[in-house]
Amino acid sequence: MSESGRFLAEAKHAIREKAFNHAAFLVEAKIKALRANTPNLPFEKTKLAEVEINKFFYEGETVDRVMIVLRSNGCQHYKTNGGCSMCAHLNGAPLTEKITHHNYVTQWNSVLDGSFIECASGEFNLNDYPVVCVYNLGSLLNPEEIQKETVEYIFRTLNEYKGVKKVIIESRAEYVTDEILEVIKSAYDGIVEVGIGVESTNRTVRELCHHKAIDDTSIITRAVETLHKYGMKALAYVNFKPVFLTEKEAIDDAIQTSVDCFKQFGFDAVSVEPTSLQENSLANHLYDLGLYRVPWLWSLRDIIHGIYDELGEDKLDIRLGGYFDEEVLSGSQGAGFEGRNEIFPHMTSSNCGHCTNEFVEAIKQFNMSYDVRDLDKVEPCPYCYKLWEETKSIKDSRSIIERIEDILGRE
Ligand code: SF4
Ligand SMILES: [Zn+2]
Repeated sequence: MSESGRFLAEAKHAIREKAFNHAAFLVEAKIKALRANTPNLPFEKTKLAEVEINKFFYEGETVDRVMIVLRSNGCQHYKTNGGCSMCAHLNGAPLTEKITHHNYVTQWNSVLDGSFIECASGEFNLNDYPVVCVYNLGSLLNPEEIQKETVEYIFRTLNEYKGVKKVIIESRAEYVTDEILEVIKSAYDGIVEVGIGVESTNRTVRELCHHKAIDDTSIITRAVETLHKYGMKALAYVNFKPVFLTEKEAIDDAIQTSVDCFKQFGFDAVSVEPTSLQENSLANHLYDLGLYRVPWLWSLRDIIHGIYDELGEDKLDIRLGGYFDEEVLSGSQGAGFEGRNEIFPHMTSSNCGHCTNEFVEAIKQFNMSYDVRDLDKVEPCPYCYKLWEETKSIKDSRSIIERIEDILGRE
């Protein structure tokens, strides 16, 4: 390239980066303004946020999985940068008080002795659940959110439950370090899987639409390598349909991202997570303004087909995440849903009232088989299938930066 050509290319790049940074600033400022409304609720620091049971596909069979959500200090990305655009987990964390090691231990002991279920103390036994998820509304591997000694305690005690075969935890990629994995490895003999929020492998989508704050994906590569070094599994979370994307763009992004997660980053599994709406999130705010709709369930079928076609396989460890089939044992959501949990979404991915339940049943089947034919068997709905197809054909000629400027304000 000539000197003047290089100069021109650099100037164009600088202009693009300036526009990108300004859009990122607008998104973050809006998210932070919305977070300012998050109520500081008087949570009991020694009680779990939630315990749920659902089915899980493990080693070729369907088993019971228990998901334990610790009442926790909340995600650091959320506290410092406002967090991701679709997430409002901080709604479930105390804003001013700190959950200590002893608080966490009390919470965890209520799982071990079954006392978290007020009406049926003692009947719960971790050994009945081959798969156990331990979540903290953030990163379990971040010592700023949950101390190392707490993580060590949880895994050391779990090691005594040989009915538990696999433990799934979650963490942002930057906290996957040798130091914390060594702690877990020396305390626990079973399989550990760590879910990492990748959301999108497209920088613009990830940084502007998701506000993920992982500009450099080498952090993700390193996290997967580190997990594999310790014999642990890496699970990628791919958020489907963040704000500012059309339905079709979101489908394409979820397919490409899932393929990249398997091929480029070496993840062992992918969970496609359709956006749901929680109070105080940017996605919820745009929904209130009529500028966002949760993704269609029909689109999930396109995504699974797209991934299988791209990878030339028809059974990969791909899960469809979201709030589809939980039996809530305990937590502030309460029995019968009358008191809605502060972390539970008020709206999830859906079709129309006529066919949503049938599709959700198909998703549950798919999650137990990874066979896309379980999704294919849902017949096109006479009330909404055509509308979904029309929605998929909607195009937006503006760039994502232009959309953000249009919605959140120009300079
Ligand atoms: S999605 Fe994960 S990283 Fe993002 S704000 Fe929520 S808890 Fe934090
Ligand atoms: Zn329908």
